[in-house]
Amino acid sequence: MESYNSFNVAQKQILDAAKILNLDAATIDLLSWPQNEVKFTIPVRMDNGSVKIFHAWRIRYNTARGPAKGGIRFHPDETVDTIRALACWMTWKTAVVDLPLGGGKGGVLCDPKSMSLRELENLSRGYIRGVAEHLGIDKDIPAPDVYTNPQTMVWMMDEYETIVHRHQPGVLTDKPLQVGGTQGRRDATARGGVVTVGEACKILGVNPKGKYAIQGFGNAGQRAALLHQELLGGGTLVAVSDSRGAIYNPKGFNPKELVTYKLTSGSIVGFPGSAPISHDDVLEADVEVLYPAALENSISERNASKIKAKIVCELANGPTTPEADEILYNNRVHVIPDILASAGGVTVSYFEMVQDSYSFFWDEDVVHQRLDQKLTKAYHSVQEAIKEKKVHPRLAAMIVGVARVAEACKLRGWV
Ligand code: NAD
Repeated sequence: MESYNSFNVAQKQILDAAKILNLDAATIDLLSWPQNEVKFTIPVRMDNGSVKIFHAWRIRYNTARGPAKGGIRFHPDETVDTIRALACWMTWKTAVVDLPLGGGKGGVLCDPKSMSLRELENLSRGYIRGVAEHLGIDKDIPAPDVYTNPQTMVWMMDEYETIVHRHQPGVLTDKPLQVGGTQGRRDATARGGVVTVGEACKILGVNPKGKYAIQGFGNAGQRAALLHQELLGGGTLVAVSDSRGAIYNPKGFNPKELVTYKLTSGSIVGFPGSAPISHDDVLEADVEVLYPAALENSISERNASKIKAKIVCELANGPTTPEADEILYNNRVHVIPDILASAGGVTVSYFEMVQDSYSFFWDEDVVHQRLDQKLTKAYHSVQEAIKEKKVHPRLAAMIVGVARVAEACKLRGWV
């Protein structure tokens, strides 16, 4: 469980960046709060005939650079502050990769694992009825997040189109290909991260064909396991974990076989030829590159000084605490921060909006090429800020994102 109030952390990060950028008090105040918050209730008829009332939110954090973009999370621990923090981080993430978008996020307080498919469909459609007037390709474009998926997006898109009496597939992204989805979305987050690792290896003189480890073997972790070898020309995957356990093999795992094993058995635990290790052993493995791809706050004061990786590529949102950031920086561990390393997903979601607008769909290699270009450029913008301001990479990424949003606010005459 998170021991921090994420929104307090997010506001502190803004202050740190604002100080270095010399932003005025009004701009800091504007950037420290969401522009717009909608709180509403969703009545859902449950399978047993009763009606249950769910609490839901949609937050547009800042739209100075374009319409809000960010996922919808269904979660039993959802709070307004978690959604504010996630919406805030989306604002800097879209700005760091220079997309013409702002940041947003939504959520429903619910326990999706205890709900039937029909109840989830009713909840998803109810969510859209509650916020339809605030959504649109030119206002706010949601996507999936924890416990929502492409099926949720199709139900939501269908409900939205029913309300507005128009075909509007671009109003939500990460849809299946058959209903306006894009090629390359499944790989996008991991691909973006691996592209930034490739750039980091060149700058730092790290061998990309050395050892790597992955914490969390879900969507992002599995794709990173495969793409690290595909895009960087090799590499030995020696340590992997998921929620049920962790495994090690000094000779390296075959990522394809490991993905198949996870899909069939439900876990990586027991993979032939592997030795069991602890969750912490994966984070502390003697590797060139570590990909945290599980939960927030996994790298903290407790274990940061034991990290041996030369590069930490944060595919997960918020895996490193502020105290751990300082320790890693002082130990010369090169962290590629989440708002940069995991920005491939929202970048390809933006490509999906563009394709939906024109009803003209790109081949996968075009998506890949445009994604690689965006992430490479963003990586180097953050590198420049690290050198120019002499700060650690997360603060540098924040400086790039906050400066771009602040400039747009100023140009619009908001501050
Ligand atoms: P997922 O649910 O598919 O995978 C999460 C994995 O983490 C699972 O394999 C789970 O078993 C594992 N896990 C859970 N607790 C663990 C623990 N204590 N130790 C080790 N492993 C543990 O989720 P995902 O889509 O791969 O997302 C992973 C992270 O990446 C999240 O922080 C998410 O916000 C972030 N992210 C994902 C995307 C995306 O496009 N999928 C985009 C941006 C950021």
